[in-house]
Amino acid sequence: MLLEVSDIHVHYGKIAALKGVSIAVDTGEIVALIGANGAGKTTTLKTISGLRPLTSGQITFDGRDISRMPGHRRVVAGLGQAPEGRGIFPGMTVQENLLMGSYARRGKNKDSELDEVFGLFPRLAERRSQFGGTMSGGEQQMLAIGRALMAKPKVLLLDEPSMGLAPLLVAQIFTIIEEINRRGTTVLLVEQNAAQALRLAHRAYVLETGRVVKSAAGADLLSDPDVQNAYLGGDLGAESAS
Ligand code: ATP
Repeated sequence: MLLEVSDIHVHYGKIAALKGVSIAVDTGEIVALIGANGAGKTTTLKTISGLRPLTSGQITFDGRDISRMPGHRRVVAGLGQAPEGRGIFPGMTVQENLLMGSYARRGKNKDSELDEVFGLFPRLAERRSQFGGTMSGGEQQMLAIGRALMAKPKVLLLDEPSMGLAPLLVAQIFTIIEEINRRGTTVLLVEQNAAQALRLAHRAYVLETGRVVKSAAGADLLSDPDVQNAYLGGDLGAESAS
């Protein structure tokens, strides 16, 4: 397994947010984490990124124990992150934002990465001189994903890429995630939009109050009656799980 999270417990003060979560992501996969508000999806991603400390458990990535490695070194090791809420630099241009994503690759030629990101997101190419802060919500989401790709990650961690986007843009973002995966990047995705995520994901985990309660192929979870009732509004056409 490329990324293996084993029995992690994470606390906010005295409150246990994760109570023994185990997930694994193999090279080439798209894996989704779904679940209701507060289930612990974002906390799981933040812990993998190194933004939250573990109380116990272990995270291994690419054959190394990274449980206590600082977040910036995890980026260098190949864990790419596009955080919830985007976190782009509003006063920098689109191109400058993208180049910030490749800081960990100092000295290397960054033009080919820029070309690749502009190829995936023609909108970013058109707007390369526009300030990040003046981009629309959907464009900022593209920018955050593009910036993460600039570091050439082995795994791309995506937190709610569809959040706040109009349906047409949601469909576009999911198509682009599929393309990123097809070009060789492994993806771990957190989504409220369970129906879309399960259609895209090779495998998925269902989180409930800090625990994994189910894991299976995305297609199998889509047709699972419990998952349909709890997260798909009992209807595959439902937009969102909650
Ligand atoms: P959502 O889909 O609503 O973002 P989630 O599944 O991503 O939910 P988390 O954000 O991981 O859930 O939250 C898991 C639990 O940890 C929740 O009970 C939440 O209230 C709690 N929690 C998250 N962040 C903090 C924090 N900074 N301080 C205290 N408790 C927190």
